[in-house]
Amino acid sequence: MHTYHTPLDLVRERSPERPVALARPDVVATAARWFQDKFQGDVFYAVKANPSPWVIETLVKSGVNSFDVASIPEIELVAAHAPGARMAFMHPVKSRRAIADAYGRYGVRTFALDTHEELQKILEATGGATDLTLIVRLAVQAEGASYSLSGKFGVASHEAPALLLAARRATTGKMGVSFHVGSQCMRPTAYQAAMAQAQRAIVRAGVMVDIVDVGGGFPSIYPGMVPPDMGDYVDSIQRGFAEMSVHEETELWCEPGRALVAEASSILTKVELKKADALYLNDGSYGSLFDAAHVKWPFPVKLYRGEGADAHEVDGPLKPFRFYGPTCDSLDHMPGPFWLPEDIQEGDYIEIGMLGAYGVAMNTRFNGFGDAETVVVDDAPMASMFGLAGRSIRLPREEQAEERKVVRLSRPKGAAGKKRRKR
Ligand SMILES: *Cc1c(COP(=O)(O)O)cnc(C)c1O
Repeated sequence: MHTYHTPLDLVRERSPERPVALARPDVVATAARWFQDKFQGDVFYAVKANPSPWVIETLVKSGVNSFDVASIPEIELVAAHAPGARMAFMHPVKSRRAIADAYGRYGVRTFALDTHEELQKILEATGGATDLTLIVRLAVQAEGASYSLSGKFGVASHEAPALLLAARRATTGKMGVSFHVGSQCMRPTAYQAAMAQAQRAIVRAGVMVDIVDVGGGFPSIYPGMVPPDMGDYVDSIQRGFAEMSVHEETELWCEPGRALVAEASSILTKVELKKADALYLNDGSYGSLFDAAHVKWPFPVKLYRGEGADAHEVDGPLKPFRFYGPTCDSLDHMPGPFWLPEDIQEGDYIEIGMLGAYGVAMNTRFNGFGDAETVVVDDAPMASMFGLAGRSIRLPREEQAEERKVVRLSRPKGAAGKKRRKR
């Protein structure tokens, strides 16, 4: 991959015609080292957040050599770029063929499940293997996540004890519990609360667990969503773990996706047309901007203008803009608001930051677009949970009003919300 010092250097050197993904491997390395330092257990990277080979290779170089995978293509990817790495097949619904191939061809021993039927499938597809590590995925009630991940997967609390017992009896290897508090979790105590729920299920089942896997959900920074310190999250997990009745060798695992990669990529996109407050770009919701369109996240932006040595970063009086992507679909719309200099014009370049997680991973080829080239840059991310940049993304005054709205929208309604406001 070609390397530039900054995105501006890329614009200076060759005004790119197509969108360019800007990769910052050093930022992934810093996040990986932070988790290994501070998290008192094993760190599995959730590959789906960003399956780029440079991410996997950087993680391995930085000491993260365990991966949470959900499909055979993800397993093949990890096998190719991180030979010998440990993989956990954490999708609770897998085909028999996928289970057999994962076990037989790729050496996967850890499998998640949330039903008796899936447990049976795992046992049969591995030919009654006795060296399995079985992880029961629990549904937990968690507050503060911006994306719920308990709607689709996880065994309900009244059914959990029977499944835990069945899993315990099914293997002479290890058995554990996992959950996911939801992605972009804004509330560190959600982990401790979820671990208390896991504890109740374990006690009712009367089993011992060898692994407590607290899943993903560790947040990054977006306009209007500045989370507490990352240290508060590991503290909450430590407290939750201390309150569980587990044996001395019980392992603590986590599966961060977003937190390891969000800061590490941005997209350089070109303005093809300006129509009042609408900017038509060469990247959009079918490219790297899925969350900007479908969850309406207002990602941070920077503006570059000009060619060759004249290219420069532009600031100046800001105005709110919305973006349209290149496809002919009217869903290809990112409402923002994105605050950019009011004199923005066709041919300008916009860098959209904090897109390393669930950004490039979502790219499609729809309508002939979506093929982004990747280059390496070594400037700082637009914001950082790991001390590489400020923790907040500065917003104009009007945007701060919007920020309060976003935070309010992301809070769960009902009693829990009320209780929190009192604190
Ligand atoms: C998506 C996913 C993760 C990663 O979640 P983040 O919110 O990106 O940290 C971890 N574990 C499982 C099982 C997942 O499905």
